[in-house]
Amino acid sequence: MSPHVPVRRQPGCTKLEWFEPSDGARVRVLAWTCDCLAMVYELCQAGGQGFIRRTLQNEDAREIRETHHWPIAQSRETWAALLTGMAR
Ligand SMILES: [Zn+2]
Repeated sequence: MSPHVPVRRQPGCTKLEWFEPSDGARVRVLAWTCDCLAMVYELCQAGGQGFIRRTLQNEDAREIRETHHWPIAQSRETWAALLTGMAR
């Protein structure tokens, strides 16, 4: 079962910055959230770094954004924070 990002943010929730996706690098998806929700998050790895990608599944066009790229360990910590409502 894929996890769900909690509806509620925790107090002190870190606000992530989201950017237009950069293309070029080969992306490996390491983990993802359940696609029953309109917004799907993926933990991605590219070029030895990690980042989080989110896709808003609009009816007509999907909207994709990604975070900064970080060292893998930091991206895993941020992924864990996302799944516990500590980052969004
Ligand atoms: Zn679900």
